[in-house]
Amino acid sequence: MLNRWNDVDAREYLSRHDNRLDGTDDDLLMMACATTLLGADNDLTMHGGGNTSVKKIIAGDSGDGRRALYVKASGTSLDLFTPDCFVAMDLDFLEGLRGGGWVDDETMAREFRSHQLIHSDRLPSIESLMHAFIPAKFVAHTHPAAILKIVNRAGGRDLLKECFGDDLAVIPYTRMGYDLALASSEAARLNAGCRGVVIAHHGLVVWGDEVRAVYDLTIDLINRAEEFLSAKVIRSVAPGPAVSAEVSAKSYELAAPLIRECLSQASRGIDGSGAGIPVDKVALALLNTPDMLELINSPDGRDIISDPPMTPDYPMLTRILPLWLDEANLSFMASIDTFVHDYRVYLDSQGAVNVTAAEQLPQVVIIPSAGAVCFGASEAAARRTADFARQAFSIRRAIFETGGEYESLPERHLFDMQYRGYQQAKKGGG
Ligand SMILES: [Zn+2]
Repeated sequence: MLNRWNDVDAREYLSRHDNRLDGTDDDLLMMACATTLLGADNDLTMHGGGNTSVKKIIAGDSGDGRRALYVKASGTSLDLFTPDCFVAMDLDFLEGLRGGGWVDDETMAREFRSHQLIHSDRLPSIESLMHAFIPAKFVAHTHPAAILKIVNRAGGRDLLKECFGDDLAVIPYTRMGYDLALASSEAARLNAGCRGVVIAHHGLVVWGDEVRAVYDLTIDLINRAEEFLSAKVIRSVAPGPAVSAEVSAKSYELAAPLIRECLSQASRGIDGSGAGIPVDKVALALLNTPDMLELINSPDGRDIISDPPMTPDYPMLTRILPLWLDEANLSFMASIDTFVHDYRVYLDSQGAVNVTAAEQLPQVVIIPSAGAVCFGASEAAARRTADFARQAFSIRRAIFETGGEYESLPERHLFDMQYRGYQQAKKGGG
């Protein structure tokens, strides 16, 4: 992974944003700059994933110094980050929550709003307490594909240890919010000398006293993971029918109108009013890069692709499973109806309410001769779905090719994050 840090660009960023905000200083601006760099690579963070923070002293109302946590607001994407995307909160108060016992989402959101030191309409990240509990000036949390390729498999923790030794501590998947803040900060405390913590089925958190060092450390860890994995490759997916870009484009051209019509019709069936989603509002994005076509058409492809997601980010955009349409199953409408019925059974089994029609439709439709057809309520949403699908499939393929056994996130956790109130604010953008 490319290290994108450039001192000239960093200085230019500083001069461009100088003194725009109350409490702004070079540390804050540098972290904002580094945040945009962390967001520049989809295999590090994308579409709202990840977050960063700075701890600093700011002047209080009576002129006294107040300890502040500046943390990324929920729903903002790192690549589009600007300094005003940080929300300043009372760090002494947040640290005090550590010993007070579990905090539910509603209380957390309320306390976050009432303990801002500089008013913002933005809601701080659901992962803010993790940043508060880790006692370092700068903290960066990302969702690196290379780390997930190592840890999201049977024996993943041992493999992580083989790759990183004592440089990284690892904790099991832990619910975001108070629980994750406690678990990650405890792991950092108990593993003296570790440089970061990996959260299985989630991501990486690192910290330091210098912005540049935190950014460099993140990239260095990713590069170590990538080199480690490339030496572990023992097989490739079995070859299947070759599908060219031209064949894919032609197939998509034929299938897309039908998929739009079927998704629209299915949405009318779900929507009690019968309004549904008009055909012209059904946005699609095609994923048909050579590696994706090779995987989808491999005899191994369907097994690799058809496992549930690995982290809570994916089901929000890709749902639990894709819909697979092949030559033996080309009745789009019947297949979509079956998918919708099965998904409804899943939602009912989890007690879900108020789930929109669009959210009950398949988001990724696999047509081997075309690729992965990704659905969204807008062109941008369809492209986001395609980005997540591409990454999910690539991670699972890498696990397969390095001889691993992929482990998805348990269903109860997937549902919890997908339909958790606080997390809904992140749609389209932790
Ligand atoms: Zn996260």
